[in-house]
Amino acid sequence: MPAIYLDHHASTPVDPRVLEAMRPYLGAACGNPSSPHSDGLSANSACDRARSEVARLLGGRPDEIIFTSGATESNNLAILGTLARRAGRSSRIVTSAVEHPSVREPARALSSWSGLTVVTLPVDRGGIVRLADAERAIGQGADLVTVQLANNEIGSIQPIEELGRMARAAGALLHVDATQGLGKVPFDVSRSGVSLVSLSGHKIHGPKGIGALWVKKGTQIDPILYGGEQEHGLRPGTHNVPGIVGLGSACAILSGEGTKEAEHLAHLRDELFERLLALVPGIVLNGYLEGYNVQAPRPGMRVRLTNNLNLQIPGLRGKEVCEALKGRVSFSTGSACSCKKPTPSAVLKAAGLSDEEALSSVRFGVGRFNRREEIRTAAEEVARAVRSLRGRSSVAA
Ligand code: PMP
Repeated sequence: MPAIYLDHHASTPVDPRVLEAMRPYLGAACGNPSSPHSDGLSANSACDRARSEVARLLGGRPDEIIFTSGATESNNLAILGTLARRAGRSSRIVTSAVEHPSVREPARALSSWSGLTVVTLPVDRGGIVRLADAERAIGQGADLVTVQLANNEIGSIQPIEELGRMARAAGALLHVDATQGLGKVPFDVSRSGVSLVSLSGHKIHGPKGIGALWVKKGTQIDPILYGGEQEHGLRPGTHNVPGIVGLGSACAILSGEGTKEAEHLAHLRDELFERLLALVPGIVLNGYLEGYNVQAPRPGMRVRLTNNLNLQIPGLRGKEVCEALKGRVSFSTGSACSCKKPTPSAVLKAAGLSDEEALSSVRFGVGRFNRREEIRTAAEEVARAVRSLRGRSSVAA
């Protein structure tokens, strides 16, 4: 039996409808969209249809979409492309303490090249930036504000519209890494005061190796790769046509089904949490979760991705629990990009956890194709593994 897959923040299975849409472009429909013949023109039309679908999901215009190899490249292009040429000692980037390394590292690189200041906003215990901190930091001057829509470890949702207002007032660009929140958190670029948005195919049941950066018309940005004229010269290189078609199809599905899917994911996630609460003594929830604690920074604010659960299993290392379930349930201790490191998660530390608490934590991410029976089985498997690791026989299961 294949393992039950509960690691949808790391990656998601390609939706069969996406695969069908891609299939012709992996075979005979091999034209290069830059070629003038009919095969090229038809590949170009396929890319344009995908562009429209990505734009529709975001609320933007098709000619504002730049296809990239994924969110890592989009984040690098957003940060380095807007600032590399202009950054100097007086420049400032305002970001948060829970950003992905593909945001953190280009900001750090720019700072070491140009002397630009990186201001890192702390987060509360739910992993959310405080508006007062953001207001103060952005009000002191910023060239770029870069904050994610939702976090890949504790699922915290950031107050993007408020940050957009602050950035606009300060004359700063706002870049949003929407990789984890896209299609799950209501978000419309035409109403959020943002200038740049990153997204990735493989987090939304599309293929790996494709992503996009939405760049609001009129935003000054330079390429970070140099070559041909593709993507307005902002992202040279032959288009990844099957990937682009797959990303377009994944976005079209989310535009149609995202709201309903969010409910399905919330049911699965809540069921997983309730079962684990009942079966695993002592587990502690990391972050905010409606219904379990309501200390949201603002009344009615969406605080957590509907598919995310992050828990401490006191007395054990998250890593050993994951390892004990290898081949049966796939989940993780945190970001796939850093979970080989023996150090505690920087995101959980930023949310105020001790090293011990962070090291005891595990992350679950439920997804589109999970079924309730799988959730029940997974909870029982986790409980059994924890019981055996704790070396106790008195735990009820
Ligand atoms: N940002 C966030 C919030 C992510 O979770 C990830 C993937 N873990 C990325 C960026 C990078 O995405 P990609 O794999 O498409 O480069």
